[in-house]
Formats: sequence, C-alpha cells, structure tokens
Amino acid sequence: MLEIKNLHARVGDKPILKGINLSVGAGEIHAIMGPNGSGKSTLSSVLAGHGDYEVTDGSITYMGLDLLDLEPEERARAGIFLSFQYPVEVPGVKNIYLLKSALNAKRAHMGLDEINPIEFLKLVREKLALMKMDESFLHRNINQGFSGGEKKRNEILQMQLLEPTLALLDETDSGLDVDALRIVGEGINHLRAAHRSFVMVTHYQRLLDHVKPDHVHVLADGQIKASGDFTLAMQLEKEGYEGLLKSA
Ligand code: ADP
Ligand code: MG
Ligand code: MG
Repeated sequence: MLEIKNLHARVGDKPILKGINLSVGAGEIHAIMGPNGSGKSTLSSVLAGHGDYEVTDGSITYMGLDLLDLEPEERARAGIFLSFQYPVEVPGVKNIYLLKSALNAKRAHMGLDEINPIEFLKLVREKLALMKMDESFLHRNINQGFSGGEKKRNEILQMQLLEPTLALLDETDSGLDVDALRIVGEGINHLRAAHRSFVMVTHYQRLLDHVKPDHVHVLADGQIKASGDFTLAMQLEKEGYEGLLKSA
C-alpha cells in the first residue's frame, strides 16, 4: 500500500530525513517511535505534502501512485487521512460543516452524490456514540475552545466518517487522559480492516497498549534505526531510546 524508499527531506537547508525506508502492507498497523526531534512529524508532513518540506531524494509510492506527484488535496481524496489535518481553530465554521464537506469531497471522488442530510445525521450520530462524544460538538466552531483531548477525539471522529485507506496519526495520544486514550484506541481499533493501514507516530508505548501494532520502528536522526514487532516497544519502555539505540 505504501512504499517509502531512501527518502531524504529537508527544511530550508537543514537535512532532516536521511534515507527512510518503510513498507506498509494492506491491513497493517505500523508504529513509528523515536526521541524528540528525530523527524517523526517531518515524515508525517512529507506524506501529507506539507509545503515547508523539500524532498531531495527517494520515492513514495501509494497504491501504485507516485505520492510526491499528488497535491495534498489529491492525497486526501485518494484515501489518505492525517490526524493533524485540521488542528487549527476555524472561527465561524461549525464542526458539522467540516465533517460533511470532507465526506462529500470523498464521495465526489468516488463518483457518488452528496450524502442526504438525514442519512448524514444518522451516520454522524453513530460515530459520535462510538467516540463517546456529545452531539453539541457538531455545532461548535472547529476546535474552538476544544480541550486537547476533545481535539484528538474529534480527529478520530473525522477518521470514522471518512473511512480512509491509509491513516497517518501523529501523536494522537499526546495530552490524553487514560479514559480518552482508551476511547481513541477503541476508535482506531474499530476501523481496523484488511484493506486499511495505519501509521501511528507516538512517543510512548501508552497508545500501543490499546492498539497493537504489527510492526514497530524506531526513528532517530532521520533514519529508521531499528524495526521489530510489539516487543520492540516493550524493550524501549525498559531501556529508553539511548539504551536501545546503543545495542541496535
Ligand atoms: P519529531 O516529530 O520526531 O519530534 P520533527 O520532525 O518535528 O521531530 O523535527 C525534526 C527536526 O526538524 C527538529 O530538529 C526540528 O527542529 C526540525 N524542524 C521540523 N520542522 C521544521 C520547520 N518547519 N522549520 C525548521 N525546522 C524544523
Ligand atoms: Mg516533536
Ligand atoms: Mg513530532
């Protein structure tokens, strides 16, 4: 589904990603862990097509397409979801409007008509219940006055509606209390499917207690220094990045 080969990227003239290789198959969950400043968010941003990051070498293939050739909106329409898609507050735009227009953009891409309002409300209520969110969320301005945990839940709600093919979650677990973490974890697990893949960027093992990854990678200094299964995350918890990278 996703094939990253020898990816190099920089911001300005500062190289950040220094040869990333990563292969994500359909139905797999990959966790990317690593110390602060190792390039995890840069990798997410490059996958999203963020303009600040210049790819200087390597390739990214998504479902047979050259991802780097696609505009950010085209990537979204092709089924890629980014957890930090709308992290900003959008005054004057109600959450329900954003959710509906994102869903309709996806439907248009699939050759479907706009969803009818009654059907949409039914669908969104179902997802709200799953995320243990109150209906009042729909009528609040996007992210305005949302707590950190509410923003994260709202992101997962968007993901539930959009049913992406590839979801990239960058530190979806940061700032969540234990209950919110569990609900977010359940929201992700609910979407697990044979045709859907996840790349989860996280600092800590906490989220991985709820969402068990098939593969764990440690990113440090712009490169993947170690890969393994879930036990790698447990080893990290014990030894810390320093200890693990020394023995890698
Ligand atoms: P992580 O998510 O692993 O903590 P980042 O990808 O956010 O790491 O950052 C990696 C390095 O790139 C850091 O040294 C950071 O300061 C730098 N960096 C990232 N984005 C920018 C930017 N837009 N401008 C300048 N430096 C950046
Ligand atoms: Mg960071
Ligand atoms: Mg980061």
